[in-house]
Amino acid sequence: MEVRFRCPMCRDDKLEEVMGEVTTATVIKSVDREDEEITEYLGSTYEGGGVVSRYQCTNCGWTVKNEHGEAVDNPTDLIPFLLGKGWPKGK
Ligand SMILES: [Zn+2]
Repeated sequence: MEVRFRCPMCRDDKLEEVMGEVTTATVIKSVDREDEEITEYLGSTYEGGGVVSRYQCTNCGWTVKNEHGEAVDNPTDLIPFLLGKGWPKGK
């Protein structure tokens, strides 16, 4: 059975995983001769790495926290919360 996120603040059903430490690579298409600045990128060609920093409501930004008030940053703590088994305990 599928279970949807339901934000306790705004009742929205979209939860987003926010990641930090992501490495991206972008192709540089051209530079401006006079300004000596990059004028155009071609878009991302690579994305790698990344560590989950928090889970938050897409609509209002409410963050899933454990009993210690710390942002939950792993699926092991998140999933029982989403299944309605109470607040994440934390370490
Ligand atoms: Zn919300």
